[in-house]
Amino acid sequence: MARIECKCGQIIWNGETPNDIEFWAYSDRTMDSILMSDSVSSLDFSVNADYNVWLCPLCRRLYIFNGKDSVPLYVYTPEEN
Ligand SMILES: [Zn+2]
Repeated sequence: MARIECKCGQIIWNGETPNDIEFWAYSDRTMDSILMSDSVSSLDFSVNADYNVWLCPLCRRLYIFNGKDSVPLYVYTPEEN
């Protein structure tokens, strides 16, 4: 459970379960490895994700974490239409 302040000023918090803030991203290789196990648990998915992605519900920025560090690797802002 953590919280960050988005660059737009919105406080983003993943403390509710389930939530619409936090997403898990897997490469095809990682997903294949997880699914090759004889039994797959929800813990397998959360600890083996390649990236943890947080979505700001206000400005739609994406914060990409590697799952180990509290500082994001990348921050993406949606393009203007
Ligand atoms: Zn934001």
